[in-house]
Amino acid sequence: MIHEYEYALAITSQFPFCSIPLRLDSYSTCQFACRYCFAASRGGSARQKRIKSANPGAFARRLERLAKGGEARSVLDEMLVARIPVHFGGMSDPFMPLEGRLRVSLDLLKILRDHAYPTILSTKSDLCASDPYREVLAAGNFIVQVSLPTLSDRLASRLDAGAPSITQRLKAIKLLTAEGVPTACRLQPFLAPDDEANDLVAACAEAGAKQIAVEHLKLAVENSAHRKALSAALKLDLVKYYADRNSPRVGREWVLPVEDRLDRVLKLRGLAHASGMLFGAADNDLLHLSDGTSCCSSVDQLGFKSAFRFTFTQAIHAHDEGRISFASIADQWRPHRSIGRYVNSKSRIPTGSVEDYIRNHWNGYRHGTALDSYFGVRRSDERDGNGFVVYELAEDVRRLLSSGQPLSDGTPQHHAGPILTAL
Ligand code: SF4
Repeated sequence: MIHEYEYALAITSQFPFCSIPLRLDSYSTCQFACRYCFAASRGGSARQKRIKSANPGAFARRLERLAKGGEARSVLDEMLVARIPVHFGGMSDPFMPLEGRLRVSLDLLKILRDHAYPTILSTKSDLCASDPYREVLAAGNFIVQVSLPTLSDRLASRLDAGAPSITQRLKAIKLLTAEGVPTACRLQPFLAPDDEANDLVAACAEAGAKQIAVEHLKLAVENSAHRKALSAALKLDLVKYYADRNSPRVGREWVLPVEDRLDRVLKLRGLAHASGMLFGAADNDLLHLSDGTSCCSSVDQLGFKSAFRFTFTQAIHAHDEGRISFASIADQWRPHRSIGRYVNSKSRIPTGSVEDYIRNHWNGYRHGTALDSYFGVRRSDERDGNGFVVYELAEDVRRLLSSGQPLSDGTPQHHAGPILTAL
């Protein structure tokens, strides 16, 4: 018997940065076994004895009640009424093998279709391109985001255990594109050799993707067995690699220094633009280099006008001559009910609305990404009338944001680390 997954619909702890912080999952645990999976590396879902599944009937009743003007009783209800896009597939792949038997994802997709609800479907499976899924996706308000860490089927078979090959994934993008479904590629984590970048971007464009997003590997601090398995798959001692580069620890992960990532991100950004695609920079400290307000499929640029904008990232985009102030997002929509049950206990504050969190963390944030951890953002000595720090955005990053072009000569040129060329 399959038990109900209580947190199938939830707000992610990324809400201070992310324009699609509303997550929907059909299943509590993923049956694929990607070596880099953050959910498995933290041992959370992997330790669960049983897979639980979402309750499509309850989800349908909730959307129907709200569509008829019913009261928004929770922060999730508020987000749904505001039609904040749902990110479907945040903690497990909607098309993992169990879907063939239970079809919970199919039921949820039909409900989302019936409400024309803006949804980004995230997957590594080509099942989404077969019927009846393809029909449902073509009739709804969906963007399908397919993840690939490399163009190489051989490397992917070592990394993405159990998931369809890269060739199958690209074929799925092509099929969905032919049906008029907007598609995107998430190169996450980017583990392709650097000399493969041109071919990888070209393959995404050729398949019909409208956007690519790039995120580097974050190495989980916990779970050494997981790190060893990933090192073996990559044939590279990752702990040594990250230590040799003085990679800082951010929360529960080691992250490569920005100097080891920036050139690659800018190169991929340039390649995406040259191929007519939008670009998402999905590393937390580079989110503002994305087109639009979101790294995920640049959702607002692809037609989802209701993306969540009460975020640090939006404040950077809304800078005024380089001044980043709280006032720039003060009028953006946000929910008002408590978010306490969805956030880390270290960050929990008594009333716990989204607004409380943003206000409390605007001047600094001990447990995660703060405004001055974004690339090119620094604190100034100025405070506004309410005591909020005014931040400054570096001139070269401002030029980059306004031109959409790679940084000019005045910017220090960084060298991408050899993690990819070492493979
Ligand atoms: S498909 Fe996603 S959730 Fe599933 S194991 Fe791979 S990375 Fe984790």
